[in-house]
Amino acid sequence: MGRIVILGAGESGAGAAVLAKKEGFDVFVSDMSMIKDKYKELLDSHGIEWEEKGHTEEKILNADEIIKSPGIPDNAPIIKKCVAKGIGIISEIEFAGRYTTSKMICITGSNGKTTTTSLIYHIFKNAGYNVGLAGNIGKSLALQVAEDPHEYYIIEISSFQLDNMYNFRANIAILLNITPDHLDRYDNCMQNYVDSKMRIIQNQTKDDTFIYWNDDPIIKRELKKYNIKSVQCPFSDLKEKGSIAYIEEGEYKIEVPTPFNMEQEALSLTGKHNIYNSLAAGIASRVSGIKKEDIRKSLSDFPGVEHRLEKVTTVRGVQYINDSKATNVDACWYALESMKTPTILIIGGKDKGNDYNAIKELVKKKCCGLVYLGADNAKLHNFFDGMGIPVRDTHSMKECVEACYEMAKPGETVLLSPCCASFDLFKNMEDRGEQFKTLVRNL
Ligand code: ADP
Repeated sequence: MGRIVILGAGESGAGAAVLAKKEGFDVFVSDMSMIKDKYKELLDSHGIEWEEKGHTEEKILNADEIIKSPGIPDNAPIIKKCVAKGIGIISEIEFAGRYTTSKMICITGSNGKTTTTSLIYHIFKNAGYNVGLAGNIGKSLALQVAEDPHEYYIIEISSFQLDNMYNFRANIAILLNITPDHLDRYDNCMQNYVDSKMRIIQNQTKDDTFIYWNDDPIIKRELKKYNIKSVQCPFSDLKEKGSIAYIEEGEYKIEVPTPFNMEQEALSLTGKHNIYNSLAAGIASRVSGIKKEDIRKSLSDFPGVEHRLEKVTTVRGVQYINDSKATNVDACWYALESMKTPTILIIGGKDKGNDYNAIKELVKKKCCGLVYLGADNAKLHNFFDGMGIPVRDTHSMKECVEACYEMAKPGETVLLSPCCASFDLFKNMEDRGEQFKTLVRNL
């Protein structure tokens, strides 16, 4: 059958190994770091050979095909060696796609993937569909295909997964937006990142659907370059030429396959960005044949996703919101845009080359205080100090929450939407969000 080597034994790698083994391949798994116990157990229980803390080249370079974890960059030495030997490198989603004929609903974009993916899953699940959640969230697609198959998969796909996808076909492809992110992995070339995102529509046929945000300048520009065969479903927040889903006079409307509407007020997710996410999810559900009343119910009772504009609690009339997932400037822009009361913004962390000009006007308009939270806040001081907004400098979540508590007056909002990655002070964005919530709840 051939030999498959899997590089990186996280959720996707371990799942791919199980599927490859089931399909009769000779399988070997190799990870530069320690493999988590639960994945070791999974591999052992299927009799799959693995190694950790290093790559044994003799066992890797004899592969017929490599399945690469999305976390491994193309310039990693082992990848360069595989490429030099002419070994094909694919992603876990590409591999799993070969062994299933289930319907694939695939969501990509720079922001909003997890929210939209979870919302679509919520709608399908509540409508009684046999559906799996996969990609960057939940169990890997490969493991589900191997052991727990579903008729539909709702898959969150990052650009890193797309980079190694060639024949995979999305029955429904959703492209939410394209703004600069992860450029360090794309030779600092925006077009490389854009090309990666556009792969979401490759191999689509006339039987497939392509849902995209009609107001995104980059998407609009790129679409002219492609011969798109699938049915196009553009959406926008206000009715605009060509859009088949939009908000009109306070009504959420989708025109296909038959007119659907509900009150915008009834949508459970708030904020302009979430209107986009709700429109994309609604279209995917309507074209999949889900009943209107089921969609209305699920769009209005979706609880939201942790760390994304998550309401924590209200203390002394001040509302606290955790948007720790806002690790880039665009995400923070949407969070601020949705604020209804004067806001104390917690900003800072590991800067990814941010251009804060994009939020400058909104900060002036919405913020009554800025709390910097990072190991090094110099760039924030340089940019935001002197705008007439009180600022505080903090270097731990405890200091930060105390500063917010002192500054905030009843009727105001404290928003953690840091524009930055979390690795300077926290394990990850979840850890940052959890620490925030715990300290706020103890105020
Ligand atoms: P992703 O999985 O693409 O990172 P998430 O759903 O986790 O997206 O949201 C990430 C951040 O982006 C959150 O701070 C959220 O408030 C913001 N966001 C969500 N949807 C959108 C959107 N459509 N456009 C811009 N920002 C968004």
